[in-house]
Amino acid sequence: MEGVTVGELAAKLNKAPTEVIKVLMGYGVMAAVNQSIDFDTASIVCEEFGVTCELEDENQAMDDLFDTHYQNEDELVKRPPIITVMGHVDHGKTSLLDAIRHTNVISGEAGGITQHIGAYTIMIKDEKITFIDTPGHEAFTAMRSRGASVTDIAVLVVAADDGVMPQTVEAINHAKDAGVPIIVAVNKIDKPGANPDKVKQELTEYGLVSEDWGGDTICVNISAKKREGIEELLEMILLVAEVEDLKAHPTKKAIGTVIEARLDKQKGTVATLLVKSGVLHDGDIVVCNDVFGKVRAMMDDKGNKVKVAGPSTAIEILGFNEVPGAGEKFFVAENERDGRKYAERRKAIMKENALKKSGPVSLDDLFNQI
Ligand code: GDP
Ligand code: MG
Repeated sequence: MEGVTVGELAAKLNKAPTEVIKVLMGYGVMAAVNQSIDFDTASIVCEEFGVTCELEDENQAMDDLFDTHYQNEDELVKRPPIITVMGHVDHGKTSLLDAIRHTNVISGEAGGITQHIGAYTIMIKDEKITFIDTPGHEAFTAMRSRGASVTDIAVLVVAADDGVMPQTVEAINHAKDAGVPIIVAVNKIDKPGANPDKVKQELTEYGLVSEDWGGDTICVNISAKKREGIEELLEMILLVAEVEDLKAHPTKKAIGTVIEARLDKQKGTVATLLVKSGVLHDGDIVVCNDVFGKVRAMMDDKGNKVKVAGPSTAIEILGFNEVPGAGEKFFVAENERDGRKYAERRKAIMKENALKKSGPVSLDDLFNQI
């Protein structure tokens, strides 16, 4: 917490500065009201008052920052929906994502299509849809556990010859927890043993009642393999997106989520970011928790170099100083100094939290860390 003065800290704690000064004196630290104290010292003061406020404050600050994008409703524009495909193993998630990708490819390209990043955007009826392509549950769970709701709509794939399975139920629960609407894709209807009605029957047990059965869950019969029903599924996605009324700010500094990140021997840190609102520019200073960096290069889902990325766009970027965590939120700092300052502060907080977790630590230990 570089630069927090005794006075500021007192205000944050809702205490008189003299009370804070008294606590500091108790630890042999002499500080005046307008004097700065470092993070560890400040956190000790907080603890004395029974407050572990740092982390909350930071999260709050991040939420506030994200909120600023949506404050002036008249400035907002429609943004494409972001979709996650979920379902039991072997029910056809990958096949569906492939089928969708191919509906959007000019025939000549079809053979040579390569997936560059863990998300892609397609155009259908002049509208865009972005699909997150990271392998199923783990990614989704990781993102959820970090509190980021990345997806707008979940497409639940259920094989018509297999029915509802454990991971189907898991997926339903994840989507429900996240408050994300579910569209059911009953897959493999080309198979001889396919029984879509049985799937619909089983889904009712989990609160998903198909529209043709008087419920409000959209179910589409598809064959990912034969590429049947794909257009209809995409239209249903657009329909649900319309109802969800998804908006973003068209010009502010970008905010969003890290989808995946890794260390590449040649390129350094490679991260796939999903812009939720605003615009990311080449050269921006991106900050993601305790990691930051200047965007050195930006690549879209087709491997093309781009200079800007707008709402609901996934891009791969180079430039983070370390590997950020999947599901972590990112924002764009005013300048490199601010970005570094924020990341370093986060690092200190995380270090302190890790110390706390690893058992009792003496004050001397804490002060020796500085
Ligand atoms: P995932 O584990 O959910 O990603 O499932 P995959 O997409 O890898 O599919 C598992 C298997 O089911 C593969 O052998 C696919 O070829 C097959 N499959 C997927 N969709 C269909 C379909 O619509 N019809 C048929 N007959 N097979 C399919
Ligand atoms: Mg798969």
